[in-house]
Amino acid sequence: MIWTALLTLLAGFMGQPAGPGQGGPGRRSGPLPAWAIQSWMMRAQLEPPVLLAGGTVVDVRHGVLIPDTDVLIIGDTIREIGAVEAPPNANVIDVTGSYIIPGLIDLHAHAQPIRGNGTANDPLAEQVMHALVSHGVTTIRLLPYSSEFGASAAGRAATDTRAWPGVVPASSIFEQTPQRTSLGFGDAGMARAWTDREAALGTRWIKVYNAMDEPSLGAIIEAAESHGMRVCGHAEGVPADRAAALGMHCVEHITSIPPALVPEDAVPPAFATLAARIAWGWAHADDADLDALMGTFREHGMAWVPTLVVTHQMAEHEPRPGLPAMTDAERASLRDAVRRAAELAVEHHRAGGLVGLGTDFPVGGLKPGASAQEEVRLLVELGGATPAEALAIATVESARVLGLDATLGTAEPGKLADLVILDRNPLEDASALQAVRMVIRLGRVVVDEQP
Ligand SMILES: [Zn+2]
Repeated sequence: MIWTALLTLLAGFMGQPAGPGQGGPGRRSGPLPAWAIQSWMMRAQLEPPVLLAGGTVVDVRHGVLIPDTDVLIIGDTIREIGAVEAPPNANVIDVTGSYIIPGLIDLHAHAQPIRGNGTANDPLAEQVMHALVSHGVTTIRLLPYSSEFGASAAGRAATDTRAWPGVVPASSIFEQTPQRTSLGFGDAGMARAWTDREAALGTRWIKVYNAMDEPSLGAIIEAAESHGMRVCGHAEGVPADRAAALGMHCVEHITSIPPALVPEDAVPPAFATLAARIAWGWAHADDADLDALMGTFREHGMAWVPTLVVTHQMAEHEPRPGLPAMTDAERASLRDAVRRAAELAVEHHRAGGLVGLGTDFPVGGLKPGASAQEEVRLLVELGGATPAEALAIATVESARVLGLDATLGTAEPGKLADLVILDRNPLEDASALQAVRMVIRLGRVVVDEQP
């Protein structure tokens, strides 16, 4: 059993891409590190099975409840759901009256503290990771400031699950010409060399940014796929429709949509701030064009992670000191843009498009974990999703974006036991995600808020 669990874990976090039918790059196998084998063999010998007794399991795939049922966890894996007799040595936890959901996935988590020491042993990083887990986020796609941090955090998350979510590491920012937070790779040849170097570090996703031309993006995608990695990021230098056609796997934010529909040089110079530019772009995008763009995403299987919460935050709060204040008209226009993006994301999801949950914390002062709960709320309140649809986006759909839906994203036998136990029904009200009673990460109770 432990070998199955170990291989599942490694497939999840050491970097196997999608299984068949996910439209992802091909499989690739890597060596199993000795420390991982040892630590997991010891665990199997020492830890008893866990039985969650008498709870209601939420089937996020179909948006239905499985009431009054038991969940048996052996090692890191859900073994059985139904009427289960407790194994003699099991740790039985009574969860009567509670709701069991798969852990949330934040696909846009800048979980590397800017003032930190740059390693996974950073006390600030510990705080961020613990905040994520205690709000029910059990997996992140980590977008770090340095690729080395991403790789070390992924290693740490695979061994020390007490306070850490699973970490799928992305690269530092790839951009052709250097900007504030990136180095510039220059041309397509260097872009390829940078991508090869990331593969050697254990990076799973390349994060691309705005200053980019098509040959470079194409070279990055090709090199990434040859290593079993994927590519995500902004789409401004290369607009989102072209990025989809080139095979980019995932596009981020609501800012990445208008440049495909409204020429960037049409934005009047008066709209200099980011907020004004986003609002202007969405206000000038035509409904039929937006629908056609989503059709292009679906045709090429490119995912969209809209990170509504970061733009919503921008619209609702004063900009940081030193930045120009927004006029009431700009603020109203930005609110319209967020609502329209939310509605588009939900329509795209209903039409079979791949939409994932992301936040962009700590940008705009967003908090780790709480911002993921807020993104779910916005999908419902602004986008018109049912709580069930929003929960599916936050779990099973986000696992599909990662190509890890064979092991993550639902509470089903054979999946990793990354579970959140809630006091209220999340299919009735998305705010139930705030009522976290317990969090289980790889089969261990890591957060216990029971009175
Ligand atoms: Zn970001």
